[in-house]
Amino acid sequence: IRLAPQRAILELPDHLISQIAAGEVVERPASVVKELLENALDAGATDIRLRLVEGGKTLIDITDNGCGIAADQLPLAITRHATSKIRSLDELEHVESMGFRGEALASIASVAQMRLTSRNDDAHHATSIDNSSGTWQHQASSGEVGTRIEVSHLYYNTPARRKFLKTDGTELSHCVEHFTRAALANPHCAFSLSHNDKVSAFYPVTDWQTRIQDVLGKNLPEHAIWVNQAVGELQLVGMICPPDVARARADTQYAYINQRFVRDKVVNHAIRTAYADVLHHARFPAYVLFLDCPAQGVDVNVHPAKTEVRFRDSGAMHQFIANALKKSLAQTASSRITTSND
Ligand code: ADP
Ligand code: MG
Repeated sequence: IRLAPQRAILELPDHLISQIAAGEVVERPASVVKELLENALDAGATDIRLRLVEGGKTLIDITDNGCGIAADQLPLAITRHATSKIRSLDELEHVESMGFRGEALASIASVAQMRLTSRNDDAHHATSIDNSSGTWQHQASSGEVGTRIEVSHLYYNTPARRKFLKTDGTELSHCVEHFTRAALANPHCAFSLSHNDKVSAFYPVTDWQTRIQDVLGKNLPEHAIWVNQAVGELQLVGMICPPDVARARADTQYAYINQRFVRDKVVNHAIRTAYADVLHHARFPAYVLFLDCPAQGVDVNVHPAKTEVRFRDSGAMHQFIANALKKSLAQTASSRITTSND
């Protein structure tokens, strides 16, 4: 056997490290949408406007009225592992912001053209940085307090990845899904969405029940059951459907932990358990559920996309969710019987 001569070990250039990392964070336009929405929400925005062109493949343009970024901090915003959100391991364990890894903007900028325009409360004008010429250019700019990020031509510099993108329609529907998830969990913020310059959604600031109704529209199940249960520091609010209107497909299922959309085995199983006696096996309940618990009770640092979580005490969590939903289902069932007896 002939061994290949070993090549010298070299440190990868920063740009290539970001492109490799981007593979984990930026799977498709929708992942960019998710990261940028989370950043806007972390900045305290109460108004977020999202514009997409050609399913987000050509342009993702998001404007928020959040706190903005100081001009001299803009280069750090697009630097890998630079974040304003955590400072220490202890803060990581108590993290309440959506972001904390400090790599989304750097990753996105390494696989797309990006212009970041921002202004904070102290600044007299906005400042923008732009990498479309190949290097970052700084410029004084105009704009209100807040941030606008324009991401164009995703994967223009990595054609192999660009080929994996699907049709505009498919990419758009993934983007809309992330937009919907964010809108459901943040009724304190107005959201608007346009695609190819046609407005496709607008949700004004409201309370969580109205937001669920606004977002689900005709997909809101008939006789939706409103959930509002608390035990100690655990709280569960949201909407579940009565068992008899459950669907044949597992759509309209949204679960959140501390406002973060999650897919979690413990949560799913607890929901199934609550419906176990009343729901046919092949039917799926529609739900939008917001679980609130102390941040240190849940580890969100499991995967870069952060839709997976680990509970410190998953048994207690399972029991709380299952009991809370069983109670809500039972209360509704008995009130329905009472009304029909009237
Ligand atoms: P992370 O969100 O994990 O901190 P990002 O790469 O997404 O990392 O963002 C880097 C930093 O840029 C953030 O920590 C934040 O300080 C700043 N930033 C990004 N987007 C916004 C925004 N829309 N408004 C205000 N600051 C922002
Ligand atoms: Mg972020």
